[in-house]
Amino acid sequence: MRCPFCHQDNDKVVDTRTSDDGFVVRRRRTCCACGKRFTTYERVETTQIRVIKRNGQRVPYDRQKLQQGLERACWKRSISDTQISTLIARVESDIDSMFETEVESQFIGERVMQYLRELDQVAFVRFASVYRHFQDANDFTQELTEMLEDPDDVLFTLKSFRNPPKLRFPKANKGKKT
Ligand SMILES: [Zn+2]
Repeated sequence: MRCPFCHQDNDKVVDTRTSDDGFVVRRRRTCCACGKRFTTYERVETTQIRVIKRNGQRVPYDRQKLQQGLERACWKRSISDTQISTLIARVESDIDSMFETEVESQFIGERVMQYLRELDQVAFVRFASVYRHFQDANDFTQELTEMLEDPDDVLFTLKSFRNPPKLRFPKANKGKKT
């Protein structure tokens, strides 16, 4: 391991211990060149993390599946492949920093929606409507109208989507623009 202070690749491990129920190995190291100490951590890779679905079932985290969902949501929008892979990397980084071995699918969905919303409102609605499909439709609709800058505009744009998600916006909000 290269020393973060002098960048020499010459160190020795002075202490090794596990934490987080044995899922993380922490190594205290001393640089033989400058004498400074630093710590490294070994943990399970995000790609090996398991996702807890709503029904309690555990499945391996599947980046491919997430990417396909995002590509579908971003269909014909001006969002590059790089932007999609950056978004996935941000979500994976969040998972990695907050969970060790298992993460609820809800957490992933919420993070994706958060980042997608910053990127493109239409893609966000597409993804959210698919993701929230099994949840209460009224809550979702209410939430959407509050989140979106212009729900009518988004609805109009959604007509270009191959399989437009079924969305119903409350009548009270119709035509109300700020
Ligand atoms: Zn050093």
